[in-house]
Amino acid sequence: MSHHVPFAHVDRENAALVDEFLPVLKEQLAGGVFVGGEEVDRLERRIAHLHQVEHAVAVNSGTDALRLTVRALGIPRGSTGVTVANTFVATVGALLSEGLDPLLVDVGDDENVDVAALEEAITPDTRLVVAVHLRGLPAEIGAIRELCERRGIVLLEDCAQAVLATAGGVPVGGFGIAGCFSLHPLKNLGACGDAGVVVTNDAELAGELRLLRNHGLRDRDTVVRWGENSRLDALQAGLLNVKLDRLAEWTERRRDLAALYDDLLAGLPVVTPPRPDDRVHVYHRYAIMTDQRDALRSHLSRLGVGTAVHYPVPIHRQPAAADGRVRTAARGLAVTERQAARTLSLPLHPLMSEREIRAAADGVRSFFDHHAR
Ligand SMILES: *Cc1c(COP(=O)(O)O)cnc(C)c1O
Repeated sequence: MSHHVPFAHVDRENAALVDEFLPVLKEQLAGGVFVGGEEVDRLERRIAHLHQVEHAVAVNSGTDALRLTVRALGIPRGSTGVTVANTFVATVGALLSEGLDPLLVDVGDDENVDVAALEEAITPDTRLVVAVHLRGLPAEIGAIRELCERRGIVLLEDCAQAVLATAGGVPVGGFGIAGCFSLHPLKNLGACGDAGVVVTNDAELAGELRLLRNHGLRDRDTVVRWGENSRLDALQAGLLNVKLDRLAEWTERRRDLAALYDDLLAGLPVVTPPRPDDRVHVYHRYAIMTDQRDALRSHLSRLGVGTAVHYPVPIHRQPAAADGRVRTAARGLAVTERQAARTLSLPLHPLMSEREIRAAADGVRSFFDHHAR
C-alpha cells in the first residue's frame, strides 16, 4: 500500500545527496580501486574518531562485524553467549554461526537487557555478553560492563542501531572489547548496499579482524589465518563518507522530531520511548506501546500513515528455534513477549517534515478519540 506518510525514506536520503554522490562515484570509477583504498581508510578513521576509540575495521555487513569479532576473540565453540530475544536475528545468528550457544534473557521497560536478569543467567559456561542498544537507546552499559568485568566475561556491543548514541556522555562501542555497527541502507548511517564496521580499543583485535576480512592474508601471498572475504567496497565507503558529513545534523533532527512526537502524543493511552537523562537516544526507531497495537496499525494505514513492528516475533519464538539451539533464561522472557505484542514503530526520519510527524500523531489521536473510547 502506498502511504502519504511513508515509513521508510531511503529515497529521500539519496535524492538529497545525489549531487554530492556523483563526483565521488566518477572519481572512483576513473581511479579503478574498488575494494579497500583511501575512502575505506578515511571512513574507518572518521568512525573511530566519532566513537572515541582507537580502531575501526570496515567489513561487508553488520552481521559480519559481529561474526568476525566473535571469531577473532577466539571464544571457544560450545560456550554460552548471552543476549536478548528482541533484536534483529543477526545478533543471535552470529553466535550460532561461530558455534556458540545463545542464551536469551529478558529486558526491562527500556526494551534493553535487564541487568538483574543478565546477572542471574550467567553460569560458568558464559564467555560472552552481547549488549544490544535497541532502536538507538543505549542499554545500561555502565552496569553491564561492571558486571562483565566482575564475572570475567567478554562484553561486545551490538551498536547496529545506535551510531552516535552515548551513555554517561561516552559514545557506545567502546564500553566492552568491541562495538559492531551495521551500515545497511535502513540504518541511521546507511550505505547503498551492505556494509558494516567494528570499533575497538584493542590493537590486537583490530589486526585480527583485518586479517579475517581478507582471507587471512598478511601480504599478497602469505595466508596466516583461514579467513574469508568481508571487505568493504570503495564505492560504498565513498558514499558513506558523503553521508557521514550529515550524520550529526540528521541525528539532531531525529531527536527533535522524536521530542515533537513525545509532545503530540502526551496524554494519550500509549507509552512513548523512555528518555533517561544519562543516555542519548538516536531514534533509529520511534516505537510506542499500546495494547491495541494491531487495530491502531490498521487505522493508521487507512489514513495513509506507514508503520512497522520491530520485532513482532522474538527470536526464541521463531520457527527456526524449534531445533532447540537457542535457550532462554530460567526466569522466562515475560517482558520481552509482552512488549512484542504491544510495540509499534511510527515513521521517523530526518528528512520528514514536522507536518508529516503531526499527521502521524493526529492519526494516533484520532484512533483513541473515535475507536477506542
Ligand atoms: C541491522 C542489524 C544487524 C545486522 O546488520 P546487517 O548490516 O543487516 O548485517 C545486527 N544487529 C542489529 C540489532 C541490527 O539492527
